[in-house]
This record gives sequence, C-alpha cells and structure tokens, in this order.
Amino acid sequence: QGEGEEGACARGVPEHGRRGGRVSGGKRLSESGVLYVVATPIGNLGDVTERALQVLGSVDLIAAEDTRHTRRLLAHYGLAARLLSCHEHNEAQITPGLVERLAAGEDVALVADAGTPLVSDPGFPLVRAVRAAGIRVVPVPGPNAAICALSAAGLPSDRFLFLGFPPRGRDRRRDWLAGVAAEPGTLILYEAANRALPTLEDLASALGGGRRAVLARELTKRFETLLDGTLDALAERVRADADQRRGELVILVEGSRDGPVPEAEGERVLRILAEQLPLKQAAALAAEITGAKKNRLYELGLRSHGSPPAGGSD
Ligand code: SAM
Repeated sequence: QGEGEEGACARGVPEHGRRGGRVSGGKRLSESGVLYVVATPIGNLGDVTERALQVLGSVDLIAAEDTRHTRRLLAHYGLAARLLSCHEHNEAQITPGLVERLAAGEDVALVADAGTPLVSDPGFPLVRAVRAAGIRVVPVPGPNAAICALSAAGLPSDRFLFLGFPPRGRDRRRDWLAGVAAEPGTLILYEAANRALPTLEDLASALGGGRRAVLARELTKRFETLLDGTLDALAERVRADADQRRGELVILVEGSRDGPVPEAEGERVLRILAEQLPLKQAAALAAEITGAKKNRLYELGLRSHGSPPAGGSD
C-alpha cells in the first residue's frame, strides 16, 4: 500500500466485518494486504484495546504463537478467525508463505500469547521479511510487561535498558550481567518467578547487593505484587516466601551511578587471572586490583567448579 493513500488501512483500522478492510469509499486500495502486529493482554483480559479487537475480527488470518491460547482469547471476545501457528521453531519456514499471502492481498494479524509480539516473543523474522517485500506493517499497540512494570516501579524511567530473559547457565548469566553493570539507565529483565532467586543472587554479585530494585510479579492479575528493596533484601524475601517464586516476573534494577562496580569488575579480572593462577591467589589479586571483596570472589570461583569460568552450573 502506497504512502499517503486514504482509506481504512491508512488509518490503521480495517472496517469491521469487511474482508481485510481494504475497500473504502468504493475505492480499492493497492493489491497487497497489511501485516498488523497486535498487542494482547498480559493477564487482565480487560486490557485489550478496541482497535486490537477490530483488527483481530476482520483480518483474513491470525498468525499466533499458540493457536489454542489465541482461540480462547478470541472466544472470550466473541470473535472467530482463521489461525496459523507461528512460533520460534517454525517462524522461518512459514515466513515466505505469509509474505506471499500478504502480497496476494490478504490481511494478517500477528499476535503473541501475551503482550506485544517481538518483545521476547516471535515475529522479528516475519516483520523484517514483510517490510523487505515492501508490504505495510501496522503496529496495534497495547500491553507490554516491561513498560507496565516500569510505569509503576518508581525507578528512574527517563532512560532504561530492556534486557529480555537472562541466559540460563550461571556463568553465562554472570558474564552477561557484568556487561551491563555500568549502564546508567534502569535495567529491565524478564524472568519466570521460579527462577527469580538465582537471577537475583547473580544480579547482586554482578551489580552489588545494595542496588535498588523492584520485583513486579503477576502484573494486571489477581496476585499482582510490586516489591522494592535492595537486591540483597529482595533475594532474602524471595528465599523466605515461596509465593514470591510463583507466576511471571519483571525485575527492574536501578542503573549504575558511578560506572563499573567493583563486584562486576572483580569478577571479570578474576576470570582472567584464574586462567593462569591458583584460585586463592587470583581472588586476592583481583580484589586488590578492583576493590571487590576477596571472599566473595573466592566463593564465586569455587562455585564455578573450582576455576572460573567453566560453563553453566545451574
Ligand atoms: N511479549 C510479552 C510482553 O510484551 O511483555 C513478553 C513475553 S515473554 C515470553 C514472557 C515474560 O514476560 C514472562 O516470563 C515475564 O517475565 C514477563 N511477563 C509477561 N506477563 C507478565 C505479567 N503479567 N507480570 C509480570 N511479568 C510478566
């Protein structure tokens, strides 16, 4: 669809009930369809937008991360639609077919199980391919767990860094966190609540246990909880209260105020020295060079199978 063309799609809302919404005022628009990237609720079904429902009710096809999940969502709003499964394992295979269908004039909506597609969810290869084919992509904004958490966390929101899910292996996660230790903006991570504890412990060692953080759990749902405190205090709270290990979680951590923190730098230096020296000596030297705590570095080295780093350990 060309720039500046008038009509339902140019306004981003297909006319309800009309196939694809590509005909407006008797004028047929270009032959290509439109890919709508539609955000859906992250828990509370009241959070769907009117425009999302209009789009989902009128496109030719919905590409959904989990078709059973989306079918339930559509049924809740009294909508029926043709669905195609689009998840991380088949996305590459189905993308050419979807581009063809769009090019032939079908309108397609892309949805994830919850929130905004492409944000730690499938859709990036599809959107890239559709745009590369010169076909219009229209965002239909709505819920997103990261922004929802940021809006209520009370941490600086003028600058933030969205990190998605941390890597699973402990050593990889620590390296990854060390790489953002000096970031001045608020850090935003996704995590399953049952993995909160190891991630909080690693955040504390990489960024310093005294950093302020917020755990935003089960947002928009019945057991929504926002806890704030230092990373050490929050880890303690999660350790002591099994309820805090249930559901879905966004972790927000205040950005660095003073560049690289000793713990993160200490860990980095320890890794290099421990390649050549016994752990005890490496930890002592790394502590002296960086100001990090010698005992903490030594323990970190021990946890990494006696000689850091040596692959994932959790
Ligand atoms: N695309 C989604 C979005 O826009 O937020 C995110 C999908 S990602 C696969 C799922 C992760 O998002 C969860 O593990 C959790 O970290 C976060 N999340 C999703 N819904 C949430 C909720 N209601 N409360 C807290 N975190 C949530």
